[in-house]
Amino acid sequence: MTDSTLIKGKMEELVTDMQEDDWYSNLAPALQLSVAEVHRKHIDSIRISVGNFLGMEKRREPKLSGSNIGSCPREIWLKTHGAIPEKFRPRTKFTFQLGDSFECDIVSLVRIIALLDDTITVREDLLQADIEWNGIKGHCDLPMVINGENYLGECKVRTSYGYRRDSVNGPEDLWGYPHQANFYCRALEQETGEEWDKILWLFGNKDTGHFAELVEERNDGKYVDLALDMIDAVGSDAMPPRPPHGQSLDGDKIKSIKCCYCGVKRACWGELTVTFTSKGKPEYHIKEDGDGELER
Ligand code: SF4
Repeated sequence: MTDSTLIKGKMEELVTDMQEDDWYSNLAPALQLSVAEVHRKHIDSIRISVGNFLGMEKRREPKLSGSNIGSCPREIWLKTHGAIPEKFRPRTKFTFQLGDSFECDIVSLVRIIALLDDTITVREDLLQADIEWNGIKGHCDLPMVINGENYLGECKVRTSYGYRRDSVNGPEDLWGYPHQANFYCRALEQETGEEWDKILWLFGNKDTGHFAELVEERNDGKYVDLALDMIDAVGSDAMPPRPPHGQSLDGDKIKSIKCCYCGVKRACWGELTVTFTSKGKPEYHIKEDGDGELER
């Protein structure tokens, strides 16, 4: 994982320039049209994201896709075997929505930078495409060519806590992001026949608006077998066991933060009761049966 300055400086320059009253009207007419097109796509992305937030977008058939490779296999298995996703609290849902909208902002700003800067091209043809590896399809955030090299750009918007950690060490495996990025590199390679070995992580801090980036080399040695195992587990007739993160309890309380935000935790753990910390964070407790044994 190495520090990078491929996008950050250009992003700050663009946002500063855009605040000038005449920034848009000073662009050449062809550029004005291209920026207007990016703006239209931006509005489309936000519309879809808000539609999802309001539950207006048609619910898609749950299946294993590029965006959930590396997630908990048991979660995807439950969803693909009929578990009804739980409803999140409005505050939690709104936090997810803010993150989605911020990620749309980052993608749109990079698209505008690419219009103004000869060293960066956003591969719009691949951005719209269903890319595929081993029968699993997905859409990646930002396939780009920077200074003649292919980069998979992946946007991640984090709270201050996650941002401080991820912008130094890269995103942790728990949420599946490195698995997904490696999957997209392989799918891009399969789609184009070109090398896609570099991942450019673009992090936004949703509390402060800070922006950071890191470059990581694709790591097939670590992630290919894990992806194949996940494909097998989700395709199996038997429900996969809980992975290590989902196996530890503190008394009757579920410890894993991933499980606490999981949309099928009740299908996984059975009946749960909820308490709240002094900061309003929910904590989930599994049920004791009549013998004082914890039910799992
Ligand atoms: S609750 Fe945890 S272990 Fe169970 S499916 Fe969800 S993420 Fe996996």
